[in-house]
Amino acid sequence: MAKSFYTLIVVPHASPRLRKLKLPARVLHVLAGVGVLCFFVAVALGFSYIKMAFKAADYDKLQAENTDLKVQKRILEVATVKLGEKISNIENLFQQIQTLVEGDSQKRAKVNVRAVGGSKIDYPTAELLGSANLKDGIDLLRDRTAEMENQLMLFQEVAEKKATIRRSTPTIWPVKGSLTSQYGNRADPFNGEGEIHLGVDIGALFGTQVRAPADGKIIYAQRKAAYGNLIIVDHGNGFTTRLGHLSQFAVKAGQRVRKNDVIGYVGTSGRSTAPHLHYEVRINDRPVNPRNYLPRG
Ligand SMILES: [Zn+2]
Repeated sequence: MAKSFYTLIVVPHASPRLRKLKLPARVLHVLAGVGVLCFFVAVALGFSYIKMAFKAADYDKLQAENTDLKVQKRILEVATVKLGEKISNIENLFQQIQTLVEGDSQKRAKVNVRAVGGSKIDYPTAELLGSANLKDGIDLLRDRTAEMENQLMLFQEVAEKKATIRRSTPTIWPVKGSLTSQYGNRADPFNGEGEIHLGVDIGALFGTQVRAPADGKIIYAQRKAAYGNLIIVDHGNGFTTRLGHLSQFAVKAGQRVRKNDVIGYVGTSGRSTAPHLHYEVRINDRPVNPRNYLPRG
């Protein structure tokens, strides 16, 4: 088979001679193939470059974000340490408040036991300062604040209980006056025989206001034999008080009263020689010496 050729004719403008270039067809086909290949390689390289350029832009952005995050982490670490120190200070205050809230050591022990609940862990500040892991530090602070929350709720419970007990414990003089007869053994004022006086007598002018010695409920307000006109107040927690020989009632049975409310007036009703208030304090209905509940004066 005869070889096919292509002849390229070059016509220079400056000279009348033509230049002829005779090339075998196979060489031209190879050159065309190489040209097409080069085109595709160039296109592929172009895409690859564009892709890399985008990646580089992403990398710069990520690096900037990384730097920013590192700064944020450092700020958080410092804040965590400072918070840890703050919590340590609050814990110290807790201890002081606990001593104030809890008068006696028995109750303090009780609160401690309940607050601990078998889970209390001591986290010294130094431990927090040395904590390399931010998450650990935050976990420690979360545990400590949760413990403080529990303890505060116990304080609240104790404080509320104390406030209730304080309000319902007879701590004031029901009338202003002087003690004319003490609690306990005495000579009967009528016949001189020995008797046990279940309360104290407070001398006061006829009609003087008689006040509730504590918060409570009037459970009795009527005449009763030797007591004369008698009021019995139930203060809760086992406490009752009896106020006798009244001239008048200012309350009715079933009524709730607050400490210092006027509940009646001094008289001499019942077995009495002169106007005075017979005052009894009972715990679980057993008379105790009212002197123990009367402030000095
Ligand atoms: Zn009496």
